Amino acid sequence: MRLRSGVFASSCLLVEALGVALFLRGFFPLPVRSLPRSEARRDPPAEPAPPGSGMVSNWTKIPPPLFKKVVIVLIDALRDDFVFGSKGKQFMPYTTQVIEKGTSHSFIAEAKPPTVTMPRIKALTTGSIPGFIDVIVNLNSPALLDDNLIWQAKTAGKRIIFYGDDTWVKLFPKHFVEYDGTTSFFVSDFTEVDDNVTRHLDRVLKREDWDILILHYLGLDHIGHMTGPNSPLVGPKLHEMDNILKKIHISLLSKEGESSLPNLLVVCGDHGMSETGSHGGSSEGEVHTPLLFISSAFEKRSGPLTQPKLVQQTDLATTLAVGLGLPISRNSVGNLILPVVGDKTMREQLRFLHLNGFQLSRLLQENTPAYEKDPGYEHFKIAEKSHGNWIKLYLDGNNSEILLNLGKKVLKQYLEALKTLSSSLSKQVAQYDMYSMLVGTVIVLEVLFLLLLITPKALSSRAEFEVPLSPPLFSLLFYLMCLMLCAVHVIVCTSAESLCYFCSMSWLTAVGVMVLISALMCGILSAIGKILESSRVPVKNPVVSNSSWSEVDVLILAGTIGHVLSLGASSFIEEEHQTWYFLINTLCLALCQELCRNYFLLKEGDPQHSITLKQSFDNVKEAYECKNIDIPAAGDSKLGKVTSSAEFIKGSDKWISLASPWIILICCRLLRSLNQTGVQWAHRPDFGHWLTSSEHKSELSFLAAVSLVMIFILVQRKCSLVSKIAMALGLLGVYSYRAAIGNIIFPWQRDSKDISKGITEARFVYVFVLGIVFTGTKDLLKSQVISADSSVKSIGLWEVYSGLVLLAALLFRPHNLPVLVFCLLIQTMMTKYIWRPLKFDAAQITIMHYWFGQAFFYFQGNSNGIATVDVSAGFVGLDSYVEIPAIFLTAFATYAGPLLWAIHLLCYLSSEVSSVLLLPSLNCAAALYREAAKIILCRWVTVFC
Ligand SMILES: [Zn+2]
Ligand SMILES: [Zn+2]
Repeated sequence: MRLRSGVFASSCLLVEALGVALFLRGFFPLPVRSLPRSEARRDPPAEPAPPGSGMVSNWTKIPPPLFKKVVIVLIDALRDDFVFGSKGKQFMPYTTQVIEKGTSHSFIAEAKPPTVTMPRIKALTTGSIPGFIDVIVNLNSPALLDDNLIWQAKTAGKRIIFYGDDTWVKLFPKHFVEYDGTTSFFVSDFTEVDDNVTRHLDRVLKREDWDILILHYLGLDHIGHMTGPNSPLVGPKLHEMDNILKKIHISLLSKEGESSLPNLLVVCGDHGMSETGSHGGSSEGEVHTPLLFISSAFEKRSGPLTQPKLVQQTDLATTLAVGLGLPISRNSVGNLILPVVGDKTMREQLRFLHLNGFQLSRLLQENTPAYEKDPGYEHFKIAEKSHGNWIKLYLDGNNSEILLNLGKKVLKQYLEALKTLSSSLSKQVAQYDMYSMLVGTVIVLEVLFLLLLITPKALSSRAEFEVPLSPPLFSLLFYLMCLMLCAVHVIVCTSAESLCYFCSMSWLTAVGVMVLISALMCGILSAIGKILESSRVPVKNPVVSNSSWSEVDVLILAGTIGHVLSLGASSFIEEEHQTWYFLINTLCLALCQELCRNYFLLKEGDPQHSITLKQSFDNVKEAYECKNIDIPAAGDSKLGKVTSSAEFIKGSDKWISLASPWIILICCRLLRSLNQTGVQWAHRPDFGHWLTSSEHKSELSFLAAVSLVMIFILVQRKCSLVSKIAMALGLLGVYSYRAAIGNIIFPWQRDSKDISKGITEARFVYVFVLGIVFTGTKDLLKSQVISADSSVKSIGLWEVYSGLVLLAALLFRPHNLPVLVFCLLIQTMMTKYIWRPLKFDAAQITIMHYWFGQAFFYFQGNSNGIATVDVSAGFVGLDSYVEIPAIFLTAFATYAGPLLWAIHLLCYLSSEVSSVLLLPSLNCAAALYREAAKIILCRWVTVFC
């Protein structure tokens, strides 16, 4: 059967997508789930029955609530050191006083990654650990269907009021008696989001018609995203929060009568923030958040303040359920925070712990077939038994020391059991579905092999090839393989201990997948057979394989393969920037060696070669001289190429050329210290932090100004006059935008004036970006449609490029502007002094551009984690959140490095082609074509022979 290569490629793509989808489904672990909440559930006994007949515990229901009103203040991105560290002492005096001397319990709650708001809210309310899949739906959160605290409270008739981030309203659409959601997308708004919450506060605190009040403050998170945790804006915001806490606390205290239950104020964060101010990853700053319980029910603290204990974020749901007298959410893996109920009697404390243990062990039963062997379950059973004994003693009226000591022992046993149960439940979340992953991998690998075997044929002139189909042996093999795989499938699925996605598919689909795998396998085998067959035919003219691979070629090949192999290890992915830094540094050294050889050795060593080259260049020069028209843009580069190539032995260019790899190395070293990235060492101080701290504003302003001037100098040389002016005005606009939003200052401006959103300034720059890109596109179209003059084309491309540079300058934070400068500088030096003299072919140039593009991705401070994505770029010049531009701008700012290098590659290649082939006027065309063809032929021959 013959197949067009297009058809073949698209079917390969389809099968590949299927394999990847199956793999991903197995790779993203399913969260631990209990049965749907609609199903009837057995009520847990509130206390285990004591051993022996006749004696029954009189507590069989859920215990009554311990608190009357509960106020939960969730401050988005509240890091633990904002409260417990020096910042807390300075800016949150009231809270600090309550922590140190008041009636409170303070903890550090550890959030599990992904530290993104929506999964964290789910964790706080359900007590379960959402999977990574929740990050994807973070932007569009549907209603929460799992059992959760809010639902339980509503069912129990509690009236809940909510103000703040509208994620809550989406998650709990009909749960609140009153709510006001604010959108969290407009990150550059620091005050309005919070004022929107606070304005309701006075009115609500006066009222009596609510039981639970939830406030979610977003301002701190926005400040973090825009300016980082060390910004001068953080202090005032913390102070604002402190005043709000004070107001709520005083009001709650005043409401407490003698007879009624005490009230509870909970202060927590959903996640922290990293040193750059964003979140999503697992650095210490991101996962550690403060958790405060403030209530008059607790004893006043005395004695020296100790470091707060570490608890899990999921523990809050369980603790609040107990505090509010609600059933514990069924998917919760949290443990009761014992100090919160520490002032209750021993019997009550044991009862709470038993409830928690019972819920956890039931969740374990529903998720693991072999739950009875789990150490947590065993511990719980032992604790339950001693609890029964304790109750027997208690009911006997024994009130001695023995009872108390035994109680303490049971308490300890329970705590131990809870801990083990939680950890074995949490471990399940991180368990991969190996079978699905394996099937996905097999499909992907088979397609890969098939492609590798068949590509040489598909690339041949006919662009079609024989699909190897069924000699009798293979059809037999095919049936055998199908049978075998189906048998394996049945065995795996019947013996699996945990749930498996691929097994849960219908058996018809599964058989289909097996048939596909077998068919691919047979295809591969017969393709191999064909290749072996054809290799047996003696080769008539052996290939002239006198390979002359230069060091650069070897490095490029080894680097590419090495990088692909390194992706097999997770730490190489986490620290991928190191790989790229290493590769480009090595590349610079190899280029340096190549240059030295060209300048010093080639003259003596290979006179033949240099003479032919020289001749050919002379001819090219003649050809150019035929043409008297001055071409402003390409002229410089084109003649630069010819002269530097033809007379590369003499002149000052030689020394600049020799020095340029070293200059590039120095640039890379400087860039490296600008942004610390990766996972392991991301928290280390770097130059970027030094610049962004508030004391160094004038240094940052100076650096930004110099960078913008440098950008102008480097970009303008190939632009038309109009674009030059637009570029200059645009860069001025960039500076005034950054000054308007308070990142940098004008020299005449002493103290920071009031900060605006800089909408006008940013839009001013957008106008020029669009103008320059439009002019460039117009030139490009003109060169395509009307004239064949490709100088217009290369000017057009360059203008599009410079427009994007201007956009990047606007979106980059001021401390990252040097990245843009060095990017342009390295591109200029490489083009002029390295690539042109050394005459690399298109493939080599492309790979080098790719390497530098990747390195610049990391120089910008990006990493493979989502925490380093700078979402503030999506709000530059926008008044409110508009989805499509925001996503486009964020993506552009994140991938600016690779993108600019890719477009530079286009510019370079098109100017290369035009300088050799297309530029000259028609009179000289013939002469030039002849010579150019010779050059190109020469180059390809030297490369391939
Ligand atoms: Zn958040
Ligand atoms: Zn955030």
